Amino acid sequence: MLRANSIVVDAIPDFLSSDAAQRIKDLRKSKIDVQQLQTDLRSGDRAALSRCITLIESSLPEHKLEAAQLLNTLEPKQNTLRLGITGVPGVGKSTFIEAFGLYAISKGYKVAVLAVDPSSQLTRGSILGDKTRMEELVKSESAFIRPSASGTTLGGVAASTREIIALCEAAGYNFIIIETVGVGQSETTVADLTDFFLLLHLAGAGDELQGIKRGIMEMADLIVINKADGANVKPAKRAQAQLKSALSLFPPKTNFYESKVLTASALEHSGISDVFDEITTYFEQAKENGHFEGHRKKQVLKAFQSMIEQALLFDFTNNPNVKAKWETVVVDLETGKITPRTAVQQLLELYRNA
Ligand code: GDP
Repeated sequence: MLRANSIVVDAIPDFLSSDAAQRIKDLRKSKIDVQQLQTDLRSGDRAALSRCITLIESSLPEHKLEAAQLLNTLEPKQNTLRLGITGVPGVGKSTFIEAFGLYAISKGYKVAVLAVDPSSQLTRGSILGDKTRMEELVKSESAFIRPSASGTTLGGVAASTREIIALCEAAGYNFIIIETVGVGQSETTVADLTDFFLLLHLAGAGDELQGIKRGIMEMADLIVINKADGANVKPAKRAQAQLKSALSLFPPKTNFYESKVLTASALEHSGISDVFDEITTYFEQAKENGHFEGHRKKQVLKAFQSMIEQALLFDFTNNPNVKAKWETVVVDLETGKITPRTAVQQLLELYRNA
């Protein structure tokens, strides 16, 4: 049996309608049954989904227990699509996601947009969380938009984003878009959370490979050259040809699909249906030949390994015996009195005997 518990909702997300926000305010005042929360979540209630997310992001120990109970009841969903989107600021990610999301909704999908934003860990102000973005999509009954997940490490953000995906899927969202800014490690994180990875790019002046990191190109299943409108159509076509030949130098990521390059204008909503068809065709094939299931299984195991590593490291560094000896070991290391291997042995011994 699940215990009834009060859940503290510390912030009402801006994207919620005033109706939903009022419901959260009302619920805040009362004690909440987690089982009821699950029922509301399964019925697709957006306010319940927001509250579940707040619960799993809460750092209070009693909430962690409730969050685990909540997450344990969710069965993994195979009939959902998880799309990762990256690109430098200004490339048109939010404009593209809005156009793409509305198109997916017109095809009968329910769309959730989540963000992994490394900058928000430092500033607490998210560049991806700006509420003025995706104004049309926000209004749709079939869309759920969540600014970036909170967390102090990318690993932590990845873990909570994985759980938020599960919650969105339990609430009936079957097209999950995870957005990140094309900087640093966050693309790898997003690729590990998604089934298909899309890089948004702009036509440059000449050398198209400049400005794209090799690693990101290798990761991309699809490159979309955005802003292919007006005077930009020709440069976009040139860039498409150049990137296509560059991609052909990489070994294919799977034995059934070769990464592609398409052009689009998110502003004019042109090329969006081609991108959508490309992605949904990939999904159909990947599901048919078993790649989809195998890929998700690998991701779950990778997430498990990374969570184990984080948990053990946390346990180790917070162990009182280890903590007490830490400074001395660091000084001994710095002065060359002991080697890193000895330092590890000493601390591990203290940890094991704690
Ligand atoms: P983000 O920072 O990657 O999310 O980019 P935004 O979606 O905020 O777009 C940055 C700017 O590019 C905005 O002024 C958009 O109106 C503009 N933009 C986005 N997509 C297109 C497009 O397809 N064509 C043109 N011409 N402008 C676009």
